[in-house]
Amino acid sequence: MVAKESLDNQSKYSHQTNTVPKLQKIMLDGGFTCPNRDGRVGRGGCSFCQCESFNPDYCRDNKTIHEQIEAGKAFFRGKYSNMKYLAYFQAYSSTYASLDVLRQRYEEALAVEDVVGLVIATRPDCIDENVLSLLVSIRERNYSVAIELGCESFYDRTLERVNRGHTVAQSITAIQMCKKYAIPVTIHLILGLPGESREDILAQTELINSLPIDALKLHQLQILRGTPIAREWEKNSADFLSFTLDSYSEFVAEFVNRLRDDICIERYASSAPKDMLLAPRFGVKPSVVEGHIKKLLLQKN
Ligand code: SF4
Repeated sequence: MVAKESLDNQSKYSHQTNTVPKLQKIMLDGGFTCPNRDGRVGRGGCSFCQCESFNPDYCRDNKTIHEQIEAGKAFFRGKYSNMKYLAYFQAYSSTYASLDVLRQRYEEALAVEDVVGLVIATRPDCIDENVLSLLVSIRERNYSVAIELGCESFYDRTLERVNRGHTVAQSITAIQMCKKYAIPVTIHLILGLPGESREDILAQTELINSLPIDALKLHQLQILRGTPIAREWEKNSADFLSFTLDSYSEFVAEFVNRLRDDICIERYASSAPKDMLLAPRFGVKPSVVEGHIKKLLLQKN
């Protein structure tokens, strides 16, 4: 299981040497919105969403894409001697605009010195053949391209309950389309959504293993102040799994043990700003959670 090493900040070929560059993702807000907020699919957004929690400081304050990347480079400068960057369009739905707008924003990122590719995070219902053809044309110029899809759950009843605004079938179709265009795909899954038992969550591994995905990012459900899900949790916390650092680590180790060996785990846990987070409060950074889980995986295997 340790073969499922985190690739969050590096590609498989970027070992840390002086000659082979280290790859670092730079998170960007590309100025996109989301169909679950602007009314195309829904209004109000997913019940767990607090968009303020998305961005690091360097991509706030209405900076251009170019400025955000330069600020990100300055932030990471000095970490390694030889660095290249992936422009990580992370906020909102980064394929949700006309093709002309997408092309213009992706090209602005690629024009920055030392940017060698794009990572595009989006919703499954915002992927189509035109977007994928655009990404393939960028890849043909020797840039790296990858997609991240927010699937979040493989239960329609859960997606409906959290007002996600797309279905499991749409997630599967989007994954298969990425595969058709040979674009690497990472899916995101939230562990602990309301109404899902431990068994329900673990049972999703069967479907995940049958899908042509390359990587998975796992997140504990974070109850953020001011969100609809926070009000639900305050009224009926019994409908939510309540994780501690230890119980979450044990649970994720069990989950990961059930996955195909070739699925890379890019993320084991996430973190929101302390002042926004109501629960669970692990009190440590995601890298510490990751360390706990990897230790458990080594013990199991
Ligand atoms: S989580 Fe993503 S899809 Fe849901 S409302 Fe927020 S930005 Fe939109």
